[in-house]
Amino acid sequence: MKILYPEQYAESASQVDYEALRQKGVRLLLFDVDNTLETYNTTLPGRETRQWVRQLKKQGFQIMLVSNGAEKRVERFAASLGVSYVYRALKPLPIGIRRALEKAGCRPMNAALIGDQIFTDVLGANWAGVHAILTKPLSTVDDEWITRIKRGLERKVIARYLRKEGKRG
Ligand SMILES: [Mg+2]
Repeated sequence: MKILYPEQYAESASQVDYEALRQKGVRLLLFDVDNTLETYNTTLPGRETRQWVRQLKKQGFQIMLVSNGAEKRVERFAASLGVSYVYRALKPLPIGIRRALEKAGCRPMNAALIGDQIFTDVLGANWAGVHAILTKPLSTVDDEWITRIKRGLERKVIARYLRKEGKRG
């Protein structure tokens, strides 16, 4: 089960305790795009997202996008945020995450992946050896059927995780 558990479970990507990550030596933040930065039906990051991402850059974090999505969409998000990216990352396989680490010249222990799916982002992050941060999905309305199935399983894992952590969902 441990490979499915995140190190942090945050309300949203902007609510992650980035200071705690910094204290653990994290300097590279890898962000999932869909339902982590914005919903599926958004083609560009909104003003708020651009603002808190800029803030993180100011704090010295290097930022990259690691998405399973197609290049066109991921590239537009990355360009708007002024960061680099890996598309069709094949999460939960560690391939794309490793490609991002290589691009950034960063060791796994100094990187964190922030994403909204346990069986994609958390599993991929733990597999690649980077810090795994789970956020609540921004929306589940447009989830594909496969994601709907995974969300059901996710709820069970999250309930267990929260019980283990002594928290309530
Ligand atoms: Mg996602």
